[in-house]
Amino acid sequence: MSERLNAFRAEVRAWLEAEAPASLRGAPAGFLQGTWGGRKVKFDSPDHERWLRMMAERGWTAPTWPTEYGGGGLSKAEDEVLKSELRRLKLPPPLIGFGLVMIGPTLLEFGTEAQKREHLPPIVRGEIRWCQGYSEPGSGSDLASLRTSAVRDGDRFVINGQKVWTSYAEKSDWIFCLVRTNTQVPKQQGITFILVDMDMPGVTTRPIPLISGASPFCEVFFSDVVAEARNVIGGIDQGWTVAKALLGHERTMVGEVFAQSVAGGEAELAQAARRYIGADADGKVADPLIRHELAQVAMDERAFMLTVKRIKDGAKAGQRPGPESSILKVYGTELNQRRRELSVRIAGTDGLGWEGEDYPPEALTATREWLRARGNTIEGGTSEIQLDIIAKHTLGLP
Ligand SMILES: Cc1cc2nc3c(=O)[nH]c(=O)nc-3n(C[C@H](O)[C@H](O)[C@H](O)COP(=O)(O)OP(=O)(O)OC[C@H]3O[C@@H](n4cnc5c(N)ncnc54)[C@H](O)[C@@H]3O)c2cc1C
Repeated sequence: MSERLNAFRAEVRAWLEAEAPASLRGAPAGFLQGTWGGRKVKFDSPDHERWLRMMAERGWTAPTWPTEYGGGGLSKAEDEVLKSELRRLKLPPPLIGFGLVMIGPTLLEFGTEAQKREHLPPIVRGEIRWCQGYSEPGSGSDLASLRTSAVRDGDRFVINGQKVWTSYAEKSDWIFCLVRTNTQVPKQQGITFILVDMDMPGVTTRPIPLISGASPFCEVFFSDVVAEARNVIGGIDQGWTVAKALLGHERTMVGEVFAQSVAGGEAELAQAARRYIGADADGKVADPLIRHELAQVAMDERAFMLTVKRIKDGAKAGQRPGPESSILKVYGTELNQRRRELSVRIAGTDGLGWEGEDYPPEALTATREWLRARGNTIEGGTSEIQLDIIAKHTLGLP
């Protein structure tokens, strides 16, 4: 490692040791857990709020974004150093959300200077929470068939229609939306990507309860909702290109999140197996079939992590996530499902628990995570659609 990076590591380490709230050390947040920010934010504790403020001040909620938009201006290598120092103290990310991983990178690529200056700094500071208005009833996999309409009225658009499966819509402040602005051209060519303030009159959200017991997503209805034309990203009727680039970021993010969440997971699974099933004299899990499955999952996880690393190295060299983000998405999500399935099986009858005090809390969490994982192969584009993309664009099949 270069001298400059070593010096940076020393600086980060000293600052985190001195400043990071002690109460947050030792317990990094799990998948999609952490501070999401926004106008309606509820911090888990005053330390979570302080952690967000101090990291945002340095731009380290969005470490690689340029400083002129509030980011940290770090190189990819410096970002890796920062992440590894956060991991060393087991600190949670100060901020998570679709602003950081979806609309932010998309604005950096397609936004005008004015759009970047307006929308990026509030994301970095955790002031605005974003949701994704893509899917509609009847337009999920066939997204380009979407019908929510936006009609130009001077320097505004008037939007009417419905979105569905909009994650966290009721907690979000702004929505990035795909709307139909032209019905006279092939379907992909009449779509516009527009940013809408959800506080505008005419926006209604209705939560949809899920099998996992949570209700993380909503239907969103637009009734004569006004959006400013200056909030069109990438040009009128040009939204499909922007939409696909954002999906690339989303799929890479989903794959990476699983890579992070599996890190260290094999040890935890083996420990649970020893507890539930027992161990032989060498400390090995007593059931050879379960042992075999544990080893298989562990090997597949290693191979997956290496693939993630290879793709990230490509990103460091400036490549935009392409069809390979579909590989991460398919493999990462299916691997996660296999791992959750195994964890519930290992727990035996404890794995049947849904709620209540008859079951250990960690078994209840495992069951709910298993159920939540069912959606992983659907959100961000189903596995079938990803396989189609891989076949056509990576393997060049007819
Ligand atoms: C947890 C979760 C969170 C989500 N969050 C959001 C969000 O925030 N914003 C948002 O806009 N959307 C969100 N979605 C919606 C998601 O993007 C869609 O569910 C997904 O794109 C599939 O669309 P659909 O549900 O309409 O299914 P359909 O498109 O109707 O597909 C049904 C089945 O048919 C298969 N299929 C369809 N077409 C083909 C084909 N051409 N070839 C082979 N098989 C095919 C699919 O693979 C699937 O198995 C979320 C979904 C989930 C589960």
